[in-house]
Amino acid sequence: MRGYDGGMTQSGAEPTVFERIAAGEVPARMVTQTERVIAFHDIAPQAPVHVIVAPRSAEYRDVVELAAADPGLMVELVEVANRIAHDLSDGQFRLVFNTGAGAGQTVFHVHAHVLAGGLREGSLVAG
Ligand code: AMP
Repeated sequence: MRGYDGGMTQSGAEPTVFERIAAGEVPARMVTQTERVIAFHDIAPQAPVHVIVAPRSAEYRDVVELAAADPGLMVELVEVANRIAHDLSDGQFRLVFNTGAGAGQTVFHVHAHVLAGGLREGSLVAG
């Protein structure tokens, strides 16, 4: 499934904000796109480089579902994250998948936070 193209989703559910970004309905500062993946700057950055990498499709809620169902797509997310860290920073990065509301997940459309620049050992964000 390539993803949402505007209007209703295949399941009839409300599209997620990331599906709407992928469809061009919600503006975002896009970093890169592939056939299956989008990457854009987080609207509330927590590090000098803070990019969201997500599949175009919302079919997986979190990283556990994604890894179980489509490991190839999971690998692609990691490859895109690595490329972004090299392009926008020094190639070193933190990759965060919040999984569940209690862990801070607010958008239930699997995504990775790519954090880079100014990160210190012992902190999870820049400081
Ligand atoms: P999480 O809390 O792990 O679900 O991450 C969701 C992230 O999406 C947060 O860091 C938000 O700042 C970010 N976010 C939400 N809406 C947008 C948007 N329209 N454009 C860019 N980033 C967004």
